[in-house]
Amino acid sequence: MKKIILLGASGSIGTQTLDVIRNNPEKFMLYACSCGRNLEQAIQIISEFKPLYVCVRNHQDINVLKKYQFACKYYVGEEGLNCLAMLDVKATLVNALVGTVGLMPTINAIKTHKDIALANKETLVTAGEIVMKLAREYKVNIYPIDSEHSAIFQCIKGERQKDISKLIITASGGSFRDKKREELIDVTVEDALRHPNWNMGAKITIDSSTMMNKGFEVIEAYHLFGIDIDKIETVLHKESIIHSMVEFVDCSVKAQLGTPDMRVPILYALSYPERIDYPGERLDLKKIGTLHFEELSFERFPCLKMAYQAIKEGGIMPAVLNAANDASVELFLDRKIKYLDIEKIIEYYLKNTVQMINPTIEDIVNVCFEIKKDIYKKFGGQK
Ligand code: MG
Repeated sequence: MKKIILLGASGSIGTQTLDVIRNNPEKFMLYACSCGRNLEQAIQIISEFKPLYVCVRNHQDINVLKKYQFACKYYVGEEGLNCLAMLDVKATLVNALVGTVGLMPTINAIKTHKDIALANKETLVTAGEIVMKLAREYKVNIYPIDSEHSAIFQCIKGERQKDISKLIITASGGSFRDKKREELIDVTVEDALRHPNWNMGAKITIDSSTMMNKGFEVIEAYHLFGIDIDKIETVLHKESIIHSMVEFVDCSVKAQLGTPDMRVPILYALSYPERIDYPGERLDLKKIGTLHFEELSFERFPCLKMAYQAIKEGGIMPAVLNAANDASVELFLDRKIKYLDIEKIIEYYLKNTVQMINPTIEDIVNVCFEIKKDIYKKFGGQK
């Protein structure tokens, strides 16, 4: 029985991780979890899965939950997330948190010898070098939950690193894939939140539409698989059937396919190296008929270009990219800025932030904090 510590249980990846645990009660148990603002959902999760430890946002939430007399111990806030990550138990940490808040729990779980199933993008985007080095040092495995990285992880299994010539990351294209740039000027939050293939949280749906999500995935792949950035390509693939590919030196290409369902990569990350039965929708290529591929252009998607630029410059720049994106997406969701302002704001901070080589975690956290503060101040956010 594998014990799971699930951070971000009430989010999109979190609830799908709970589906995986629910479907495999003899394999996995929810040992601890953190929940966000939806307390109703927290109550349901605790009643059903009976975790021993639960982290909530504040003490008020605990007072509400205590009325139900659940037999679990409560933790609060960011400190609580880190306490869960450091629990003295052999367990896998599923990090499904959204935002920079996910970084420290990953680091603390590694330091307490827990394998990581990683969905939190900020962990590798902002501190990839530090996190991967720690994982090697503590001999901890990092299993990707994202569909693209899970695909690459599956394709390179049994292959030698030196035989890999290229990673090809597929992109569905997000909600505006059929719009030209000039058509983006007045798009609304509602338009942006309508993703054609995947059902995800608001932040990542916006990131998919700007292609920043793909940019983050390129950066994550660079760290996870230790591949030169120039050997990582992206391709627009609207059907989301091929989840990514790997090309080898002999011109052979491996792809991993399946119907778009995040529970598949989640299950693989938790069951690795085994595969477990899953009654999901099977892929029927006869029904699909045709798969399409197009170039993802940097002109159409400048956020993708900026992500490549940030990782090539290295140092603090990927963290700058992430912080500026985080704050501007939030402002867009709050209707304080327009859609195309997102990329303008990111570009400004990439240009105007002083580079820092080999930043520490403290440097990264500080720069993120300062940039976000600056953006909220300039554009009238609530923080
Ligand atoms: Mg993805």
